[in-house]
Amino acid sequence: MATQTITPHVLGEATLSELEQGLRGRLIRPQDDDYDEARSIWNGAHDRRPALIVRCAGVADVMRAVDFARSESLQVAVRGGGHSIPGFSSCDGGVLVDLSGMTSVHVDPAGRTAVAEGGCTWADFDHETQAFGLAVTGGLVSTTGIGGFTLGGGIGWLMRKCGLACDNLIAADVVTADGRLVHAGEDENAELLWGLRGGGGNFGIATSLTFRVHPVGPMVLAGPIFFAGDRAEEILRFYRDWTPTLPDELTTLVNLTTAPPAPFLPEAVHGKPIVGVVAVHAGEQERGRELVQPLKDLGDPIADLIGVMPYVAMQGLLDPLWARGAHNYFRSAFVDELTDEAVAALVARYRAKPAPTSELHLHHFGGAVARYGDHHGAFGGRSAPYVFNVIARSPGAEGFDANVAWARGTTEALEPVSREGGYTNFMGDAGDERLRASYGAANYERLVALKRRYDPENLFRLNQNIRP
Ligand SMILES: Cc1cc2nc3c(=O)[nH]c(=O)nc-3n(C[C@H](O)[C@H](O)[C@H](O)COP(=O)(O)OP(=O)(O)OC[C@H]3O[C@@H](n4cnc5c(N)ncnc54)[C@H](O)[C@@H]3O)c2cc1C
Repeated sequence: MATQTITPHVLGEATLSELEQGLRGRLIRPQDDDYDEARSIWNGAHDRRPALIVRCAGVADVMRAVDFARSESLQVAVRGGGHSIPGFSSCDGGVLVDLSGMTSVHVDPAGRTAVAEGGCTWADFDHETQAFGLAVTGGLVSTTGIGGFTLGGGIGWLMRKCGLACDNLIAADVVTADGRLVHAGEDENAELLWGLRGGGGNFGIATSLTFRVHPVGPMVLAGPIFFAGDRAEEILRFYRDWTPTLPDELTTLVNLTTAPPAPFLPEAVHGKPIVGVVAVHAGEQERGRELVQPLKDLGDPIADLIGVMPYVAMQGLLDPLWARGAHNYFRSAFVDELTDEAVAALVARYRAKPAPTSELHLHHFGGAVARYGDHHGAFGGRSAPYVFNVIARSPGAEGFDANVAWARGTTEALEPVSREGGYTNFMGDAGDERLRASYGAANYERLVALKRRYDPENLFRLNQNIRP
């Protein structure tokens, strides 16, 4: 679907041995026992067979893998956490540069910065930074990689207070298409840093990312509250009126879904439609309690799990619901207004969802996200008050197409209130026009100029591709 198939390239044994001997990490080949495990990614809809997997131990391995792929004219796929929805982090017949072994994090508590290697997940990152009561906006699921997440934008529970993950990226070391290591920071290659704040993996492989981190937790007022699915319209209307009143410390989303067989939900509702509202308050707990009270006052919840919990517990709370292997397709939209018609359209699409595992997420944007302007980074759509994500998900291939068609129809139903593009990390393979709309024409042209400078041959094209 998203990637082109490259005819398997015949590589001589001597060539492969030379590559292998030059690595501190591992070269994994199709005949190796762990090849199938090593090539698999989170989204089971994509089943690809790279010719080689270079599991890098450090920068030198990444440089070597890039040089090798370029000189052998092999396609390059880059793997951080492996959560790419369009399956960009694997390929057929090319070289998979696997960063999953590069997970060190160095925190400077006094300077409030953290330097993380490009293969870290949010679980790795939060574990280290929370030891000092520090955090940056991470994923809603802790197994997501910091690499793809941050370079594409990065929306999460701290975004309204701290900005997107990419807004807090203050430097990065990047192996570019020519195999060089380039430092991008606010005083050095600042234009590259601008592009890395939303432009994805287009310019090279980030071996390390430096973040500004903020005092958060370690205990926060957070969690989900669930209501019966037949109250979807009431909850969405409440959400529309409530969200504009909220301070930046509170980030929330509405989830229109079906109750999973989870222990925190009464057995009687398992398999029935439910509406979740999830909130995280990154501030003083008592103030958080006051802010979520109007939500609790809606009354008669199926389960109310909003309370004081460790920030890292909140970060991992949803992990069991998002195990790897299922077939997934996401679509996204930046929503300008929740009109009555938009609310009605959302509810109708919710009622029409073909599988219990498919769901609709409406995130409240704004706050710090909106205040960082286009001058700060390439990420587009930041002035929208809401970002919408529709998840088509089925356990296997059976029924998946119907879910994909439903997801497409759902973003179409929201077109009257949404912008042309969407959030690139929540999309399938977007294509040129949708990408241009997602970044805005001016940002897109700036990204094309950067691409021409750092990757004129488009070696890094398995991504939401900015074509040189
Ligand atoms: C279960 C799940 C939950 C999610 N939750 C959120 C969420 O809360 N908020 C949100 O904003 N997004 C979320 N996403 C989307 C997520 O941000 C993207 O899928 C992102 O690309 C994942 O990053 P990764 O490193 O895990 O992905 P990978 O599949 O490893 O990489 C995806 C692409 O990113 C690039 N890339 C990755 N690492 C690097 C690197 N170090 N250097 C250069 N390029 C790199 C490459 O182009 C690669 O093809 C979620 C996705 C899933 C599957």
